[in-house]
Amino acid sequence: MAKRDYYEVLGVHRNAGENEIKKAYRKLALKVHPDKNPGDKEAEEKFKELTEAYAVLSDPQKRATYDQFGHAGLENGGFSSGGFGGSPFEDIFGDIFGDIFGGRSSHRGRRGSDLRYNLNISFEEAAFGTDTSIQVPRHQSCSVCGGTGAEKGTRPKTCPTCRGAGQVRYQQGFFSLTRPCPDCNGEGEVIEKPCPGCRGSGLEKIRKSISLKIPAGVETGTRLKLNAEGEAGMQGGPPGDLYVEIYVDEHPLFKREGQDVICEIPVSFPQATLGCEIEVPTLTGKVKMKIPAGTQSGKVMRLNGKGVTSLQGYGKGDQLVVIRVETPTSLTPRQKELLEEFSRESGEDVHPLGKGFFEKVKELFG
Ligand SMILES: [Zn+2]
Ligand SMILES: [Zn+2]
Repeated sequence: MAKRDYYEVLGVHRNAGENEIKKAYRKLALKVHPDKNPGDKEAEEKFKELTEAYAVLSDPQKRATYDQFGHAGLENGGFSSGGFGGSPFEDIFGDIFGDIFGGRSSHRGRRGSDLRYNLNISFEEAAFGTDTSIQVPRHQSCSVCGGTGAEKGTRPKTCPTCRGAGQVRYQQGFFSLTRPCPDCNGEGEVIEKPCPGCRGSGLEKIRKSISLKIPAGVETGTRLKLNAEGEAGMQGGPPGDLYVEIYVDEHPLFKREGQDVICEIPVSFPQATLGCEIEVPTLTGKVKMKIPAGTQSGKVMRLNGKGVTSLQGYGKGDQLVVIRVETPTSLTPRQKELLEEFSRESGEDVHPLGKGFFEKVKELFG
């Protein structure tokens, strides 16, 4: 079948402006929209033709191609042979009809919404993983009426006002507008005897207990997705998903950086100067670590493989031990005496780091 000219389909002039094209499309689409003509093959074909014409003429680039080459110019552009099931249709549909066909927001068969659950876990649970269970407040299909909202033994009946369409038409001057049916709220069905269990909503509130496996290596912000554990769908619609968002509690000793665990270890001035062996806490207990003589404050030492398992299940981080040399604060008279002697003995020249530092200051400030 030969294709009709797009301008002819929309009933506009070849030099029609964007707004005029949009208006023409709205007016015609309202007449032949499949929702208003259920089962009418001819209307469906017309609607397709119309939408195809609009898709081309509302796009300046495609319109220019069409103006120059006609249908042949668009053959390779995805609009040939009536192939129109894909995204252009969806886009236009959402764009234009979002506001007009308010009645399409019927609850029937609608997917339940996704839920988010914030879960606090300890530092160790995040590092090693854990099994836990959470109580999620949500709705599910009413167990009394099975989700229909109608009293047991009765059924919702087709809304007499809109005859099941869920929308009604108003005439306002030249325009006719379609709105969700006020008597059934766009559902297309009315419940004469509401279910006493859910007062007609078809849903009941529950606290669902869900057991949860937290894998090792999660951190604050990690999201676990539990399929179909979200809010119940409306009247036969599928449930949404549940997202568990992890918040890891602070630890008094450790911090995390990716898979590495960081801890600060205080070391006394003589220990750092003379070298020593200290005990360092790790996630799996204490380990001994050698501090070499002359260790400076801020030095980072690495304990291989003492970090956190990666969330992907292979490889482990390290523990980074940050040495903090503590300056003694309360000295006995004897300690003071010894330090003064130490200082006299050192003089200015035996402090290589200190000397370098003061020379740099001198260079900078003279
Ligand atoms: Zn019920
Ligand atoms: Zn109705």
